[in-house]
Amino acid sequence: MTPETVAAAAPTAAAAAATVSAPAPAAASVPAPEAAATALVDDPASHRVLTGDRPTGPLHLGHYFGTLHNRVRLHDQGVEMFVVVADYQVITDRDLADRLAEHTENLVLDYLAAGLDPERATIFAHSAVPALNQLLLPFLSLVSVAELNRNPTVKDEIAHSRQSAVSGLMFTYPVHQAADILFCKADLVPVGQDQLPHLEVARTVARRFNDRYPHADGSAVFPLPQALLSDAPMLLGTDGGKMSKSRGNAIALGASEDETARTIRGARTDADRRIGYDPVNRPEVAGLLQLAALCQDRAPEAVAEEIGDGGAAVLKRTVTESVNEYFRPLRARRAALAADRGHLRRVLRDGAERAGAVAEATLAEVREVMGSI
Ligand code: ATP
Ligand code: MG
Repeated sequence: MTPETVAAAAPTAAAAAATVSAPAPAAASVPAPEAAATALVDDPASHRVLTGDRPTGPLHLGHYFGTLHNRVRLHDQGVEMFVVVADYQVITDRDLADRLAEHTENLVLDYLAAGLDPERATIFAHSAVPALNQLLLPFLSLVSVAELNRNPTVKDEIAHSRQSAVSGLMFTYPVHQAADILFCKADLVPVGQDQLPHLEVARTVARRFNDRYPHADGSAVFPLPQALLSDAPMLLGTDGGKMSKSRGNAIALGASEDETARTIRGARTDADRRIGYDPVNRPEVAGLLQLAALCQDRAPEAVAEEIGDGGAAVLKRTVTESVNEYFRPLRARRAALAADRGHLRRVLRDGAERAGAVAEATLAEVREVMGSI
């Protein structure tokens, strides 16, 4: 894997057209992408990472190659890490959070199996950290309804929503995510591509808060968080769309080898026997090639070349074998950890305690600069 690219969140048209007073961004405070990537290697202690997932189902290969792999890499380099299980955000696009406790524990299981150490990484559910959620109120005052309305990820999630009407929570969810990121003053956020518009909201909130409520000495309360994209910022699912927990098109990290084979056998391909890597014209085949390539740590073109005229059958066999081989150690660790559910709950309890102390300190600072008594 090559080092991750830092997606420098450039101010979007939406931000520029904001109706809420938004002073021009302080360009000097936004580190250049290369600077951030270098700083990461040189000075891990100067960074703090926040990432997370919704407990809507088991983590899949899109999570692993999209963000989890980067999280573990940063964690191993000694960067301080917070991982949020975004349980309130489950009910943004459905009426009930189905099997919430089970999905939450299973996320923790996936994190630990992937290599996160709960002694060093703070893993917590945001519903268990009240001070984090309280940040939502001042933050909501910093964005306009028009800006939220234009958010492309919110639009996509509304299109796939299981609710008949768009709830207020769906609408304000990017601002809640800003609270998830800013409560611990994270400056790096490993995410998939679909999250870039949300990251932009978090940066807008931080920038406007800092401008409106500076410390008495003029210093800023929040850093401007940057997105960290991996080499696979948008892994495709078996239907050719974004691999997603909620869309029935995913290969779960914890799936058995047989389940993996069955899911890949059912993947959409095309009628052309000659396998080639062409993401624009043959996205389904390209998605499968990318998956095999990531597991083999090779270029997708090289995998395609090897399959040649083998058609979809050889392509799917190659992908299945690559995935099962690559994830065998992780799956074995996952199975060993799965027996002790009490341990998973303890991880969440300790994490909530640590995150709670950080959130309380940030909230106190926010209240102070706002002039609260
Ligand atoms: P849901 O369908 O419930 O929204 P999801 O699969 O989209 O689930 P999230 O919990 O919404 O997963 O996303 C968690 C993180 O994983 C985010 O940073 C997101 O960008 C990243 N991610 C999700 N799917 C992919 C994917 N297919 N490729 C790369 N990254 C992904
Ligand atoms: Mg999602």
